[in-house]
This record gives sequence, C-alpha cells and structure tokens, in this order.
Amino acid sequence: MSKKLKRCESCNDPINWDDTVILVEDDVYHKDCVELYPTGYFAMIDGEPIGETENDNGGVAWEYFDDHELEGLDE
Ligand SMILES: [Zn+2]
Repeated sequence: MSKKLKRCESCNDPINWDDTVILVEDDVYHKDCVELYPTGYFAMIDGEPIGETENDNGGVAWEYFDDHELEGLDE
C-alpha cells in the first residue's frame, strides 16, 4: 500500500519532514511556493489569494504532520 503523503497544493511535491511550510486553512504549501501579503495573514500564489494562514512565518513540517504523512523520514 502506498503511503498518503502530504503534498504541496502549489507544486504538488510531497512535503519533506524538514520543509518550511505554510498552512492555509486545511491545505499545506511550501513557504517558497506562496507569497504572503505583507500586512496580514493572507497567502497568495501568482497574485491570487488562496486564503488566510495560521502560521505566516512558516513552520517545520514535522511539527504539524505525522511521520507517515511526510517524505524523508526513516520508517
Ligand atoms: Zn511547493
């Protein structure tokens, strides 16, 4: 059975355990894949707002997800 990895909603790459991620509602993005609106908590891609983020400074993926959802960890 294949593992169900968390994937970035922008580039569709699996989230690596040490990636810096931005959470937008229930979706996850690499910090580098989104632009953050300077004055608030709004994340955007190519100028299109995608929603409010709870962690605008980004966070390390393993703080948010279980091991089985992440790539790059040993079993
Ligand atoms: Zn990405």
